[in-house]
Amino acid sequence: MKRFFESSAFLLIFGLVLFVSLANAQPTPKSVLGFVPTDDKTIADWGQITNYFAKLDAASPKVLVREIGKTTLGKPMIVAFISSPANIGNLERYRQMNAKLADPRTIKDDAELNNILANGKSIVSISCSIHSTEIVASQMSMNLAYELATATDAETKEILDNTILLLIPSSNPDGVQIVADWYKKTLGTKSEGTSPPELYHHYAGHDNNRDWFMLNLQETRNITKLFWQEWFPEIVYDVHQQGVVASRFTIPPFYDPPNPRISPSILREVGLVGYKMAADLQAKGIAGVASNSAYDTWWHGGFRSAPYYHNSIGILTEAASSNLMSPATVTPDQLKRSRGSRGLPSLVEPATNFPDPWEGGVWRPRDIAEIEMTASRALLTLASKYRGRYLKNFHSLGNANLKSDDTVPQAYVVMAGQPNNEAVARFIEILTFQGVEVHRMTNELWVKHSKTEDFHEIPLNSFLVFTNQPQKNNVLSLFEKQVYPHRVDANGQPDTPYDVAGWTLPMQMGVENYEVWDIRDLDKFRPTLEKVTNQNQVRASLNMPASQTAFAKHANPLKTAPRIGMYKPFTSSMDEGWTRLVFDNHQIPYKSISNEDFRQGRLDYDVIVLPADGETTILNGFGADRYPADYAGGIGDAGVENLKKFVENGGKLVCLDDSCELAIKKFGLPIKNVLSGVARKDFYNPGSIVKIKVDRSTPIGRNVLEETPAYFINSSAFDLSEPPPSGGGQSVGTGNPVRVVARYAEKDALMSGWMLGEKLINGKIALAEATYGKGKIVLFAFRPQHRGQTYATFPLLFNALEK
Ligand SMILES: [Zn+2]
Repeated sequence: MKRFFESSAFLLIFGLVLFVSLANAQPTPKSVLGFVPTDDKTIADWGQITNYFAKLDAASPKVLVREIGKTTLGKPMIVAFISSPANIGNLERYRQMNAKLADPRTIKDDAELNNILANGKSIVSISCSIHSTEIVASQMSMNLAYELATATDAETKEILDNTILLLIPSSNPDGVQIVADWYKKTLGTKSEGTSPPELYHHYAGHDNNRDWFMLNLQETRNITKLFWQEWFPEIVYDVHQQGVVASRFTIPPFYDPPNPRISPSILREVGLVGYKMAADLQAKGIAGVASNSAYDTWWHGGFRSAPYYHNSIGILTEAASSNLMSPATVTPDQLKRSRGSRGLPSLVEPATNFPDPWEGGVWRPRDIAEIEMTASRALLTLASKYRGRYLKNFHSLGNANLKSDDTVPQAYVVMAGQPNNEAVARFIEILTFQGVEVHRMTNELWVKHSKTEDFHEIPLNSFLVFTNQPQKNNVLSLFEKQVYPHRVDANGQPDTPYDVAGWTLPMQMGVENYEVWDIRDLDKFRPTLEKVTNQNQVRASLNMPASQTAFAKHANPLKTAPRIGMYKPFTSSMDEGWTRLVFDNHQIPYKSISNEDFRQGRLDYDVIVLPADGETTILNGFGADRYPADYAGGIGDAGVENLKKFVENGGKLVCLDDSCELAIKKFGLPIKNVLSGVARKDFYNPGSIVKIKVDRSTPIGRNVLEETPAYFINSSAFDLSEPPPSGGGQSVGTGNPVRVVARYAEKDALMSGWMLGEKLINGKIALAEATYGKGKIVLFAFRPQHRGQTYATFPLLFNALEK
């Protein structure tokens, strides 16, 4: 008799077991990558990450990976849906349920609502490494996905039954690739662990997380569509890293001030998630976790801020960084000397919001990953245990926004017949793309612009944006003037907001609009209002040709065809990137000029643009101590001399904000920045809209409104100075060498945001053109193209580019 293991029955069973186990084998990240993600000195690039997720998708009934669009540089962006097999099999059903909660008007009765609340799933998003040098989360995402797909414990099962996770391995895949390529190239050299010598988003660099209401970037649009047209996540968690010498982890609740347009209940829910994360981290003995510090909830345009205006909970966490994927060492002395951050003045003293300071030591990518995994689990556990509560709160907030509210305008009207159709069309497109409801008027309407005044007639084809819609707070926050609270300490020092103080979108875009406090016979007119569902409706209303693509490029506005060169430093200038975006969106041709081009005098252009970088950065660039020779140094003295020759011989130099400093000093222009050396307590404007008065008789000022909103962000204000001493350099031309194009308003210059010491800039020069040799130097004291948002002042920049 054969022994059993030789029998055919054994072979059959063995074969079956082998087949089943192989078929179900869920690939570990290591089996696909050859290393364990987040181990020291390993890095997976975007191709490896998407490859891993594709393999996990193929093997696991709990994971479904979908492409959500292409990046700016054409890479696939992906989301991994992770949930129980039953939920993954019914994703569309759960998506529809949740979309109904987002707009309570689509739910027909209590029975339908109760059915959704009983059977719907918490929709949670976790997104990684939008800031690509904050690289660990993108690597961690593979470990998180594998763990959720394979763990068999009761808690994981409960999470998968009750929640649908939308895991976004990176919100900026191009940047993951850039960082991975640079890290691999520099591993083992003096540059190991440094930032790459280019923007890690093609246009925006770090500012890619400042685009969430403007939607200039392809990546922002892809995720906005996924979130606010399709899935409406109740909780959005965006995973970041902060500096090396910092708290080990910063979590919500956030710091002051809160934006008044965020529901108090959302702020409480944000805090609850933070405390759950903190408690779980503490239970694991992880030290150095801080809450109520550094990051506030004022600013609207961040990944985790935008959800607040969609009635969702937005979470940001910031782990201390290592040196990309190489370990860092932090000494107790470094921690002691650190000045901390707002709300966290010391990294060594225990405080209620920081009860367990970290003592210092080696800090590895894996430490970061462990914290991020623990925080993610904490979030998912909450979302799962309180599933019904999250769904109910989400619905209630949307529902409350539908009720009439006489403390805010009933609607905003965006006027038809404005001269800048391109800006109006783009503005309406931005609103509708993020789910704001907009109506087009097919009949004249009579409205009151204030509570007390008489009814006025509004022209046909204007657009109405009602405030009583689920996104009420989004409408208000985008249309209203921001009034940042006056936050100064006893010495008059301003408390720096985390980002800018004001952003009123139609104002930045120069789009005329009015508050509407009453509408005559609204019920009679309502049927004549046409809901805007596609951009060609908008374009037809504005007598613009139809467009086949969303966010279509604008026509080139230039009358001449100047050969434009733009300085592109290795130090990753976000302003340079945004300027390129504005040029590309307007189909304005240009070439980038490198440090080497400046030094070698390869400046064969009509116009050279210097984006907003300071004199020292432009002159010196990166130091040779950490960067290879190819990337070290700036334009240097040789570059300055070549730039002078370029202008002397008839070229035009256009300087944006900070770069004016270099031109004023090196060209000896009879202009000074009146804010230079002024203390913050005497003047402070961290990002606000200010009023400028434009001289329309100048070539640069033509076709621009006489009073125009301009963007000021720690910017400049000029005055004429004494002529330079004789022998002190070049002549500054003959006659009147400086022509003033625009000045800051004489009074009430602040339009939206916060400004201390306005008197210092009232009436001062905001834009000037100086003659130098046969050429010209244009000095913008403000940012005419700030983050690609300021359509109101784009024409000034375009005019300045003309030959
Ligand atoms: Zn970040």
